[in-house]
Amino acid sequence: MSRIAIIGAGISGLTAAKTLMEKHDVAVYEKSQTAGGLAQSIKADGCTFHICGANSMKQICDTTRKFIEGVINFDEEIVEVKRNSAILFENGEVSKPEFHGMFKKKMTEIEGVPSPISSHIYMLQPEIQKRIVSDIFQIKAKEKSSRSPKFLATYLKAKYGQTLYDMFFGPYYEKVWHSDLRKIPLRWLEGRLHAPTADEIIMANFNHDKAQYLAARTFLYDINGGAQRLVNKLVEAIGDRLTLNHVVRDIEKRGDKWLVDGMEYDKVIFCANLKMLPKILHTPEIEPYKEYIASLKYHGTTSVFCELSKNPYTEIYLPGKEHRAHKIICTGNFNAANNSESHKMTGTVEFTDYISEDDIKDELSRMPLNPVYITHRYTEYTHPIQDIETQATVTKIKDTLKPTGFYITGLLAEWEQYNVNQAIAAALKTVETI
Ligand SMILES: Cc1cc2nc3c(=O)[nH]c(=O)nc-3n(C[C@H](O)[C@H](O)[C@H](O)COP(=O)(O)OP(=O)(O)OC[C@H]3O[C@@H](n4cnc5c(N)ncnc54)[C@H](O)[C@@H]3O)c2cc1C
Repeated sequence: MSRIAIIGAGISGLTAAKTLMEKHDVAVYEKSQTAGGLAQSIKADGCTFHICGANSMKQICDTTRKFIEGVINFDEEIVEVKRNSAILFENGEVSKPEFHGMFKKKMTEIEGVPSPISSHIYMLQPEIQKRIVSDIFQIKAKEKSSRSPKFLATYLKAKYGQTLYDMFFGPYYEKVWHSDLRKIPLRWLEGRLHAPTADEIIMANFNHDKAQYLAARTFLYDINGGAQRLVNKLVEAIGDRLTLNHVVRDIEKRGDKWLVDGMEYDKVIFCANLKMLPKILHTPEIEPYKEYIASLKYHGTTSVFCELSKNPYTEIYLPGKEHRAHKIICTGNFNAANNSESHKMTGTVEFTDYISEDDIKDELSRMPLNPVYITHRYTEYTHPIQDIETQATVTKIKDTLKPTGFYITGLLAEWEQYNVNQAIAAALKTVETI
């Protein structure tokens, strides 16, 4: 039995703790007054407010499923919600005038086209369709011969063509990550991108989206509070091994032991924020990486919880320049219990980085679905942005520290854009050798 300190009680730290606590003496330190990190949701006016995204699980692997099944009654509590997402284009406002008035058929509630756009090309104006068809022929011709793209922009253009890239993928992802997609390595989104082949795009349009290629047509959601329910169950299982309101500030090696804020442990699992590691960890192994870690870029998220007009959507994507927000997540449609008597329909309007309350209210006044402000939260670190060296450098840091009994796992700890499934799977893999 080892004494193990786990830093951070987000999904990753809680997963590690739950897995190790049977055989080891585990202590989890969390700086906030509640556990859950980015997966948290809170109650606002009796409704469920997910403070970052909605943590809906688009796909889960077998190991994650098995882990969740050990904590939650999967069959009774987790439901499969059908996605009904749409993309709102700004007819007349879009920067490229050739796209004005592009839709033959308009969706009733918003001027949008259903997502994925690649399955709904038949809804666009004929001249745009022609350009996309020509793009798809080019994609098909290159499919077998082309080299694998290394960056996000080249990948998206290779998979969807220039026209769809200019209309949606480029502006939308640049809005979300505030980053140049030509410099974002594709590996950063490994396991999260499910682009169709040229044949699948063609078939989806002939069959009017009956084709089943899209992995994320549904998502899993805990009807009793989303990912927060999993967090609560894990916290319950861990019991008094979890200490809240404890910011870990000092970790040092003494002989074969680790001192975490003066308390002695055999091993440490770091599930917090890589940016903070050089300040907290006092060992020579981290020295060569200090400068690189300091140079890592990131962005935050302002999530605005609102009452919305009744609508049938799960998400609405906003790629255009008219709105600073990039997405409306209609969490009230995930599960009626997310709403309350006073707010029949609620959801989150998501902005990248900080935006003031006055600016939020100004933005909301011009947005679709008539959002009425309830509350908001700004989280500074939500999108760790990788460059071409990040994964290899973080792997080196992990490999250098692991033999000393110091492990690193988690979204910000590894500087990965993990979803819940990936965060759980990575934490399980990290602890399997302990
Ligand atoms: C905007 C957004 C939308 C998302 N949407 C989805 C989605 O729809 N579906 C999905 O599957 N996933 C989604 N995710 C991803 C998901 O939220 C994460 O994968 C998961 O929550 C990461 O958990 P983690 O434990 O690795 O990290 P975190 O949640 O960041 O946990 C780290 C914890 O460490 C604590 N900590 C930090 N420093 C210290 C310290 N010095 N001492 C003690 N504690 C410390 C923090 O307070 C925090 O609780 C989304 C993420 C974001 C940002």
